[in-house]
Amino acid sequence: MAYAYDDQNIFAKILRGEIPNDTVYENGQALAFRDISPAAPTHVLVIPKGPYVSMDHFTQEASEEELVGFMRAIGEVCRLEGISDEGFRAISNTGHNGVQEVPHLHVHIIGGRPLGRMLMKPA
Ligand code: 5GP
Repeated sequence: MAYAYDDQNIFAKILRGEIPNDTVYENGQALAFRDISPAAPTHVLVIPKGPYVSMDHFTQEASEEELVGFMRAIGEVCRLEGISDEGFRAISNTGHNGVQEVPHLHVHIIGGRPLGRMLMKPA
């Protein structure tokens, strides 16, 4: 699949500094900031700085440096937020079935309370 990146998406605007964010961590390849509508005491979004729509796009086209920097950022955020020991959930909603709202790859880091089962089975 060929991906078209929309540079007007909200996270692209955050990366360009056009919209403010509450930054938790940043390295050369990734930015982590608090979700505007947190689902738990810790809810941080980690995004690559490059123009990638999704995990599929990123893992196909990103460089080794981008891949490593992004994954390291996820671990660093969990340690900074103090959720590594008690546990957390890392989620990347992708595409239509994943109900992805913002078309720039992001991993939600959610923790700070017991999170329950991952998915509810359909009734
Ligand atoms: P998705 O449904 O695409 O996986 O998640 C998008 C997330 O982005 C949502 O949890 C939503 O609250 C968050 N979000 C949307 N707009 C903004 C914004 O302008 N700033 C921040 N910090 N988070 C946002």
